[in-house]
Amino acid sequence: MAPADKSRRFSPMAHRDDLDAFRAEVRAWLQAIVPEGWFARSAGAPEGEYLAFQRWWFDELQKVGLATPHWPKDWGGEELTLRHQVIVSEEMVRAGAPNPDLFVISLYHLPATLFAHGSPAQRERYLKGVTERGEIWCQGFSEPNAGSDLASLRTRAERRDDIFVVNGQKVWSSFAAHADYCLLLARTDVNAPKKQAGISYFILDMKAPGVTVRRIKQMTGQSEFCEIFLDNVEIPAENLIGAENAGWMIAQSTLSAERGLIIFDLAERMHDAFQREIAAARVARPAWWEDDELRRAFVAHYGDLQALRLMIQRMLRELEANAETGASSLPPLIKVQWSELLRRHTDFWLKAGGLEAQKYSPPLTGGGHVTGNRLQDFMWSYSWTIAGGANEIIKTLIAERVLGLPR
Ligand SMILES: Cc1cc2nc3c(=O)[nH]c(=O)nc-3n(C[C@H](O)[C@H](O)[C@H](O)COP(=O)(O)OP(=O)(O)OC[C@H]3O[C@@H](n4cnc5c(N)ncnc54)[C@H](O)[C@@H]3O)c2cc1C
Repeated sequence: MAPADKSRRFSPMAHRDDLDAFRAEVRAWLQAIVPEGWFARSAGAPEGEYLAFQRWWFDELQKVGLATPHWPKDWGGEELTLRHQVIVSEEMVRAGAPNPDLFVISLYHLPATLFAHGSPAQRERYLKGVTERGEIWCQGFSEPNAGSDLASLRTRAERRDDIFVVNGQKVWSSFAAHADYCLLLARTDVNAPKKQAGISYFILDMKAPGVTVRRIKQMTGQSEFCEIFLDNVEIPAENLIGAENAGWMIAQSTLSAERGLIIFDLAERMHDAFQREIAAARVARPAWWEDDELRRAFVAHYGDLQALRLMIQRMLRELEANAETGASSLPPLIKVQWSELLRRHTDFWLKAGGLEAQKYSPPLTGGGHVTGNRLQDFMWSYSWTIAGGANEIIKTLIAERVLGLPR
């Protein structure tokens, strides 16, 4: 391959009308910009370095229109089609480019919420806050006794003239320690006939007096998750999203952002890891390569991954055909298939890698879930069977809403 010309100006958007040229430009840009060895350097890097790297990557993506390619132009996006986004994702995986993990709520959950339900002033202020200032958002939904049963949340918001006074606690809030703002659900009507009916949706300034963030030490050694304590926090009424007590319905828009292209990217990264593992094993002939049982498991996982990739392709075709409604019945099936395969496959590597694989070393961050750090990959695999709705809950949803089985 010819060396990348780092001095030239790249402009993928200038080629948006020609998909092949667009792909070529994205590929050339990635070849020039992705720093060699960034992935290995991420293991055990001090937090400041991780944050600076993520910010740098977000800014670079933004310069060529690839930070918010799926957003409308009015809000700093590029209005790229799904097909363009798939190309970008494929090229990112091919180049081994980092994911802007720190910005996931800012890039997906925030717009999914504000496009549909935000006021013009909220969209102007907060969407541009992401595109122009790289503001970081977190999500404050779960509570110690309200995870799967989210509607039981007890954080209370009481209206006093033009402010709401909020008291309560949130948990499992990813990256809250670095966030500027939070998408917050709180109860505004304790007497509502249904628990879902008394919830409102707020924009919380994480620097407001009374907000305390405490990190949770995870088994991986990281502290990405946080608890958020809210002690008489004042939220201006203008930060209410949608109508008072309509928060449950609005939260469905936020949660829908967790579907779609995120698993496409992760499955392609897993596919890429398979290709690398096969190539390496052909040369090194490790013990698992000679073991019938392990080799059979490896091939079975490969087959499962191909089935998953076909399901994702079908979902993308459905999403493209139903661009207005975004309707597809496949996301819950894909989420279950992906998360269970990830658990099986990372467990395989822990066994196939012997004692060496079971030694602790710091995680490699930003490159997917099959990073080659066997112990960390295994521990992290559990996150996908819980996040975005635990698999038991999703399976109930599939039974009732997709298959129409009785409750
Ligand atoms: C990687 C990751 C990132 C996250 N990020 C955020 C975030 O940014 N913000 C945020 O607010 N939250 C976040 N969460 C929290 C997540 O939404 C909750 O963990 C999830 O909703 C499950 O709730 P819980 O942990 O309270 O478990 P529980 O609801 O207590 O469930 C425990 C177990 O019981 C099972 N169970 C519960 N109810 C039923 C039922 N009715 N039928 C059958 N089985 C049931 C569950 O499936 C699970 O196995 C994150 C979680 C993960 C793993």
